[in-house]
Amino acid sequence: MDQTATTPKDLAGAVLSIDLSAIQKNWRYLNSHAGSAECGAAVKGNAYGLGVEPVGRALWEAGCRSFFVARPKEGEELRGVLPEATIYVLDGLFPGQAEFYAQNNLLPALISTEEAREWAAFGRVYGRKLPCAIHVDTGINRLGFPIAEYTALLAETATMEGLNVSLLMSHLACAEEATHPLTLKQRDTFRDVRAKLPGVPASLANSSGIFLGKDYAHDLVRPGIAIYGGNPTPALANPMQAVALLEGTILQTRTVHAGETVGYGATWQAARETRIAVLGAGYKDGVPRALSSGNSATPPQVFLGGKRCPIIGRVSMDMMAIDVTDLPRAVAHGDSAEILGPHILIDEAAAWAGTISYELLTRLGSRYARLYSELDSGLQS
Ligand SMILES: *Cc1c(COP(=O)(O)O)cnc(C)c1O
Repeated sequence: MDQTATTPKDLAGAVLSIDLSAIQKNWRYLNSHAGSAECGAAVKGNAYGLGVEPVGRALWEAGCRSFFVARPKEGEELRGVLPEATIYVLDGLFPGQAEFYAQNNLLPALISTEEAREWAAFGRVYGRKLPCAIHVDTGINRLGFPIAEYTALLAETATMEGLNVSLLMSHLACAEEATHPLTLKQRDTFRDVRAKLPGVPASLANSSGIFLGKDYAHDLVRPGIAIYGGNPTPALANPMQAVALLEGTILQTRTVHAGETVGYGATWQAARETRIAVLGAGYKDGVPRALSSGNSATPPQVFLGGKRCPIIGRVSMDMMAIDVTDLPRAVAHGDSAEILGPHILIDEAAAWAGTISYELLTRLGSRYARLYSELDSGLQS
């Protein structure tokens, strides 16, 4: 028997390769579009599912210094990798957890008067004012101080004197739409919010916000999805590089005669003699079941042998079938097909599945082999 060593790739069936140098290029591209503003990074949700440790390191090496996570636990994890980074926790200050934030040098993005009072009180006990952001809601109606509560906070001298506010921030609801009335309203409201707290650095733009121009850049931008390859300008071609490459390995090929069906529910029927390949990747691996054929106006596809091949039938837990009849050369067990990557962009696949790139990335599974590219040392700054 052949004793050739197997690689994790051979044993896992599907492979997720994450291109850390593409992450760095994307971050540099965003940085170059941020004008004089500092470019930070949203790395919440385990860096949008791609792994906060390697991604955090790659971004730090590219020059990123300010990071945004959602949960204090995520902040603790990132702190373990980046001892000197500025790390904001977007969900605010969890009650009774100020000590945890201080131990891990996490900066809460405060969203209410109670949180502001607690952080100021903790700073007094701790012996110094600890840095934090104040997050003001300018119209998304999600997280942050309502304007009236923010104004009242500024008048609450005892609390304000206990805070070291290092960032004033707000979040856009419709940043992909430059002319949306809410985008313009948030721009103007944030300008007023800023004027009430002069001298404090301000931040409004996410990935798409960076492309809204200088009125939105302020002092710090907070891109997330564009770093990971999502299109920040959906009306235009995607300027970002693909970061994640998800490949499924062919487990078996077969010929299906006209009239026969493929997969659960017999939802796909062959109109002609069809060569099919079954890939070892399914919804357990993060390939949405909504990528089954017949669900979207444009048929979902994978990329194999230099061509796009339609997905046929239902995506199941461990596998999915594709039509390889029109490929110029035969494919065989062990060949792999790109499910997501430079040819099948995350925004396109997400649209087929009726979702967005953010959800697609953050729901990628954990069963496949996960390979991180070496950083291109020529690019290190
Ligand atoms: C997630 C998030 C971001 C990053 O948004 P993208 O659309 O991924 O660029 C920025 N700011 C806040 C407050 C967020 O929650």
